[in-house]
Amino acid sequence: MSYVFPIHDIPVLSVKGTKDVFPVHRIYCVGQNYSEHMYEMGSNPERDAPFFFSKPADAICHQNSKILYPPMTNNLHHEIELVVAIGKRGEKIAKSDAYNYVFGYTVGLDLTRRDLQKEAKKKGRPWDVSKGFDKSAPCSVLHKVDEVGYLEKGLITLKVNGEIRQQGDISEMIWSVPEIISILSGFFELFPGDLIFTGTPSGVGQINRGDKLEGVVEKLTKLEIKIV
Ligand code: MN
Repeated sequence: MSYVFPIHDIPVLSVKGTKDVFPVHRIYCVGQNYSEHMYEMGSNPERDAPFFFSKPADAICHQNSKILYPPMTNNLHHEIELVVAIGKRGEKIAKSDAYNYVFGYTVGLDLTRRDLQKEAKKKGRPWDVSKGFDKSAPCSVLHKVDEVGYLEKGLITLKVNGEIRQQGDISEMIWSVPEIISILSGFFELFPGDLIFTGTPSGVGQINRGDKLEGVVEKLTKLEIKIV
């Protein structure tokens, strides 16, 4: 048996301090996980159960990428997020056991075609074209838990052309990382290689061709990309 065409490369992230790479399996994302961001999106943070969407694994793109402004949108938005990398297989994981499944962390951008997302929300349609387009998931390098510990607080910021647009603290998440892992693993069996985007603080906004983005989460390598 052979493949009818060469198989595609597996998307990977570099692991800080090693020559190794982390093979990406799936990308899950949590919607609206900081209350200030929920207000700006017109919802109320009443601690409804978290909701999830996903991006294809090959939506990953790397540190220092030049990203072509995507087609079919006039309102590309930035969402800076803490990204959790899963290192162990599991389902129905207890919150108290969730940290045992964390391999490490990185800084990611959940790039969004906001105009298409608004349209989808209005019509009750899926978010694939607004959230899961090509290169919609830029990520920095991965830091192992051994190096940075379990992250429960720390500044999260995004600068566009040197100016701060988003600022928060990861301790302000409505659903904590262990809660997210526990709930998500009730819907899907998690595998080593899965990434979870944990939601964005307030201040989301439009980006344009020529913009330089710098995303920071305390203790992690800064994510830098350019829209061209
Ligand atoms: Mn997001």
